[in-house]
Amino acid sequence: MSFTLAIVGRPNVGKSTLFNRLVGKRLALVDDQPGVTRDLREGEARLADLRFTVIDTAGLEEATDESLQGRMRRLTERAVEMADICLFMIDARAGVLPADEVFAEILRKKSAHVILAANKGEGAAADAGVIEAYSLGLGEPLRLSAEHGEGMNELYTMLLPLADEFAEKAAMNAPETDVDVDEDDEGPRVPTKARPLQVAVVGRPNAGKSTLINQIIGEDRLLTGPEAGITRDAISTQFEWEGTPVRIWDTAGMRKKAKVQEKLEKLSVSDGLRAVKFAEVVVVLLDVGIPFEQQDLRIADLAEREGRAVVIAVNKWDLEDEKQDKLKELREEFARLLPQLKGAPLVTVSAKTGRGMDRLHAAIMKSHEVWNRRVSTARLNRWLTGMLEVHPPPAPGGKRIKLRYMTQVKTRPPGFVVMCSHPEKLPESYKRYLVNGLRTDFDMPGTPIRLTMRSQA
Ligand code: GDP
Ligand code: GDP
Repeated sequence: MSFTLAIVGRPNVGKSTLFNRLVGKRLALVDDQPGVTRDLREGEARLADLRFTVIDTAGLEEATDESLQGRMRRLTERAVEMADICLFMIDARAGVLPADEVFAEILRKKSAHVILAANKGEGAAADAGVIEAYSLGLGEPLRLSAEHGEGMNELYTMLLPLADEFAEKAAMNAPETDVDVDEDDEGPRVPTKARPLQVAVVGRPNAGKSTLINQIIGEDRLLTGPEAGITRDAISTQFEWEGTPVRIWDTAGMRKKAKVQEKLEKLSVSDGLRAVKFAEVVVVLLDVGIPFEQQDLRIADLAEREGRAVVIAVNKWDLEDEKQDKLKELREEFARLLPQLKGAPLVTVSAKTGRGMDRLHAAIMKSHEVWNRRVSTARLNRWLTGMLEVHPPPAPGGKRIKLRYMTQVKTRPPGFVVMCSHPEKLPESYKRYLVNGLRTDFDMPGTPIRLTMRSQA
């Protein structure tokens, strides 16, 4: 069972661009009969392993007798009726315009599930518009660049729980029918409740990725083959790891197929990037002989910026004689070279002998749990009061910046918004103080934490 997503918003914000990205060439026209205005386009969208129907309210710009406002309103209402989820798009470069407010009002009233997207979000020119988007009262905006493909993994993350919800509803309404949409699945068709944990193993060539994956999967191997959705180059395998359904993205697969030797490095990097996009937990596999190489640092940083949970695994530990000293050295290097991943677990493993697999499993599970963690607003605000007392925010020009209220707006990774009197004046160091506090006081190591300051309307 799938769901329908409508993309709505005023003209020129980038709706068709996103539609085309999601649909590619798998396009169908809804009103494809003579005499019927073709104002809603429908297509079969693919986003990683999700399949759904997407509706684009394109064609609004075309002149008709009807006023643009009236036409926008009518079309949007129709799309909202047809869709399970509405993706409401604004142009982050232009900021919030009066026309956007009209849409927000319709959606607040009529749509059960709204994803607010601030498009054209690439680069700093969009920063102000993204913050402004909060004022629409539709929750935290999803920063997108439909043109450059940025934010697609966040969109996927936001759609996942909704997709599960609709699948469950469908299963309840029609217990006899197939709801398992995984076409590659050869097994009995039963509703799949537990979605597998998505893990990517990334690292330089020869770090031991293939050996590690074979070691983990061992005899339990349940091959589901290439995932059609994203790209045929990223191979994933689903299996049970100590009772947990896991899908591992194998970034080594493509490299093995490469013919041209000198392209190896480059290929394995871009391959790793693709795997990171759709993973929940990224295992950065290092070779103890050459740990923290430039390439390792780059991909670890990327995983953090993409908001994935990160586990650092140091492989070939069997080759190390001075284990105690080496571990200390590795921890120091990790803290120095990857401060943005503070608190992420570092485990030592030997893919060859199988030592440390239990440690790796535990670290992945813990990181995933933390990545999904939700802290109640009441607890957060008690905590914030304490933080403000211990270390009050600065008072530029004699006026103290006031932090009034805080709430968690998302998980995967945890994201928080603080209402603040002059967010632009609050120094980065104060934000770091809060983020570090959140990490330690709510036990959230090894996950990116997003903290946004929002000015009060
Ligand atoms: P629609 O009218 O909402 O369907 O908007 P379009 O998809 O036709 O896009 C309007 C314009 O914005 C086009 O020139 C696009 O190339 C441009 N555009 C779309 N997405 C982005 C983006 O993410 N960044 C930037 N800079 N431009 C974009
Ligand atoms: P990939 O390129 O990252 O997939 O790396 P491979 O899994 O192909 O491993 C590269 C080489 O490192 C192979 O010769 C492996 O046998 C070796 N190797 C992998 N893991 C270990 C380990 O834990 N200990 C030792 N000593 N060698 C390993």
